[in-house]
Amino acid sequence: MNNDIEKVLYTQAQLNQKMDELADKLNQKYQNQQPVVIPVLNGAMIFASDMIKRLNFKLNIDPIKASSYEGVNSTGKVKIVQDIKSDVANRPVIFMEDIIDTGRTLKALSQEMKNRGAKSVEVVAMLDKPDTRMVDFHADYYGFKVPDEFLVGYGLDYDGLYRNLPYIGVLKHEVYA
Ligand code: 5GP
Ligand code: MG
Ligand code: MG
Repeated sequence: MNNDIEKVLYTQAQLNQKMDELADKLNQKYQNQQPVVIPVLNGAMIFASDMIKRLNFKLNIDPIKASSYEGVNSTGKVKIVQDIKSDVANRPVIFMEDIIDTGRTLKALSQEMKNRGAKSVEVVAMLDKPDTRMVDFHADYYGFKVPDEFLVGYGLDYDGLYRNLPYIGVLKHEVYA
């Protein structure tokens, strides 16, 4: 285990099993719909790439990059830093996100795709942190509900680091204190 990690919350095996379950649900729902799958960069890149391989329907992949989060505290503003290239009008949209925290990012991005005329918008999140929600938002599908701790790994970073850990862990407080 990495020296900066206090404890492991979810191993690769646990994540794999959960992604199988999530993919089953999506595979039942999206046959013949050809959605635009939108990974939210950078955090969702590991989760999304593992999830998308489990999907058996026709889809397009078109990532988006939003910023709203600096260090360990959310700034509250959501800005699209890198937009999708697709026209989502009359198409189903599936966002893939690493973790829902305040809910601001996905609430804003979902609303934006509805404004662009998306036929439907759903959100798949690897993790959901319900205790820190600041706006009314819930993911349609999520892997695990997690406590209010600062997590890293599997795409989640602290100042750009730890995304490559093949598990989700709690960062030692001394690392960011
Ligand atoms: P929010 O839901 O607050 O708009 O923002 C969600 C984003 O905040 C996530 O995509 C992620 O980048 C970041 N975030 C929230 N909680 C954590 C956490 O525990 N660890 C890390 N590394 N990022 C987090
Ligand atoms: Mg994210
Ligand atoms: Mg981050």
